[in-house]
Amino acid sequence: MSQTIAVLKGDGIGPEIMDATLRVLDALDCGLTYEFFDAGLTALENHGTLIPAETLEAIEKHRIALKGPLTTPVGKGFSSINVQLRRHFDLYANVRPAISFPGTRSRYDDIDLITVRENTEGAYLSEGQSITDDGDTALSTIRVTRQGSERIVRYAFELARQRGRKKVTAVHKANIIKTSSGLFLDVAREVAGDYPEIEFQEMIVDNACMQLVMNPQQFDVIVTTNLFGDILSDLCAGLVGGLGLAPGANIGADAAIFEAVHGSAPDIAGRKIANPCALLLAAADMLDHLDMVDKGARVRGAIREVLDSAREQVTPDMGGSGTTDTFADALVAHL
Ligand code: NAD
Repeated sequence: MSQTIAVLKGDGIGPEIMDATLRVLDALDCGLTYEFFDAGLTALENHGTLIPAETLEAIEKHRIALKGPLTTPVGKGFSSINVQLRRHFDLYANVRPAISFPGTRSRYDDIDLITVRENTEGAYLSEGQSITDDGDTALSTIRVTRQGSERIVRYAFELARQRGRKKVTAVHKANIIKTSSGLFLDVAREVAGDYPEIEFQEMIVDNACMQLVMNPQQFDVIVTTNLFGDILSDLCAGLVGGLGLAPGANIGADAAIFEAVHGSAPDIAGRKIANPCALLLAAADMLDHLDMVDKGARVRGAIREVLDSAREQVTPDMGGSGTTDTFADALVAHL
């Protein structure tokens, strides 16, 4: 039976990189059917709202969405669409792989790690934020729950088990933030007991930053709370050469949305020079999620080969002189 996915091409470079990504997926013969929906600025123009009800209904129905970057209009009254989607579908796990590819500007060429960030609680609550009338004192609440911690740590261990990964590192600050970070660490230790075949390591967040910069190869899967995960996953993207090759997945019990980490790049939109790789890597993660692990691996293999041997065909941000289309042509040829 073919799987239908909701496709949100998005704004700016979104349609260009989505078309390239779908071309590669089609060449792989994945048996996917696409239904296209608006979101972001395009939806605001066409439907008067940033996320039309039919887009939400489609994601709810198909449970899997591949999403291009969305532009959140600047100004009051528009809250981030990505945050809204995360809340609406309770997408509690933000999964961000960082993998070295040839020819990227980085001092390391052998990184292969995944950050699993808790996406719904921690310091990122809309409630529990206040400021005194004189504007001199602000208070932000951190909420960590046993249930929220358990489901994210279990997700990280299950991911490690499925992907044959050897180690899960829980990153925390329980030495200082003893209540919330302490609870997260306690739960992580308990859950780790259910996975004796996977090594469990715990690391304080400041040390984790230093270790990631100096010896990133020691990490395999990192699991952490919302704020630390937000920061660490961008640090990890920097370790493998920046956002051009950074995919992200937002996963919940009932829906999963796969996307590139970068934005809609309005400065280069329409110039046909957008790099499709981050979205394509997100699509590869989607194939893994759909139990098409061999096809996901073929996508990553093609990106590796093209970056290694067909540099002139890749986009300028990767050092080539090609276009989004020549990049996609080369990827299809190397599948
Ligand atoms: P951006 O990621 O869009 O662009 C930053 C720089 O990176 C730009 O110079 C851009 O040209 C370049 N770049 C980004 N993606 C590229 C690609 N695939 N190929 C080649 N170059 C690329 O960040 P920004 O300019 O801060 O944000 C622009 C818009 O995107 C904003 O409206 C923001 O809200 C939105 N945004 C959306 C998402 C998302 O939907 N997940 C994420 C971040 C930003």
